[in-house]
Amino acid sequence: MRILLTNDDGVNATGLKVLERIALLFSDDVWVVAPSEEQSGAGHSLTLTVPIRLRKLGERRFCVTGTPTDAVMMGLAHLLADGRPDLILSGVNRGANLGEDVTYSGTVSAAMEGALAGIPSIALSQNYAREGMGDTVPFAAAEAWAERVLRPLLGAPMAPHTLVNVNFPALPPDEVKGIRVVRQGIRDYGRLRIDKRTDPRGYDYFWFGLRPVPHTPGHVTDLEAIADGYVAVTPLHLDLTHEASLAELGSLYEGD
Ligand code: MN
Repeated sequence: MRILLTNDDGVNATGLKVLERIALLFSDDVWVVAPSEEQSGAGHSLTLTVPIRLRKLGERRFCVTGTPTDAVMMGLAHLLADGRPDLILSGVNRGANLGEDVTYSGTVSAAMEGALAGIPSIALSQNYAREGMGDTVPFAAAEAWAERVLRPLLGAPMAPHTLVNVNFPALPPDEVKGIRVVRQGIRDYGRLRIDKRTDPRGYDYFWFGLRPVPHTPGHVTDLEAIADGYVAVTPLHLDLTHEASLAELGSLYEGD
């Protein structure tokens, strides 16, 4: 089984090393094609206006000066064009990708790109306890639980244009309560925090950050599962159509 690994935290990220160890439990044919720099928040963006450089770092290890989607495309259409991977794993992201995070997330979007190409694709993200942890974010829950999460998925069929989004709670492995298959939740809006600062020359600049807001997660959602100490496993699909609104919207244009 050929496995392609990518992420959005960049080719040197700790979580990618964790993911390599996880992937090697399943196969020796593991390839890394990841962004050369951190691309968190890049979503499903694709680089069209500047050239992309590909750098070989090892026998099966490459980095791409672009987004996670660029990296997957480079992997599928160039590096592995003659031997497509059987599985794409993206992560392990430093931080959760829950609820509405998924469309901002480069980690999840890399798996979306894999799903579009018809390859079983799984995004993995490790929640952490609080902001400001830097490189001290522990990946122990992901490392300890990933095999139990992934092994059943590898044998299971995935519907077309779907992917699986996995989040590990911010807990030591032996405190994780189990695995829950849950739907995507959505938080109360208003997490964005804009820090305004002034540079040494007197000009303003800004940092976008996300702050936790108090909310009650919906039942049987990824947000609830993580809050309750479970690994959250969520099937996502790329068809964003809201089925229930189709008829009502259609009625607005009757006769047109
Ligand atoms: Mn990230």
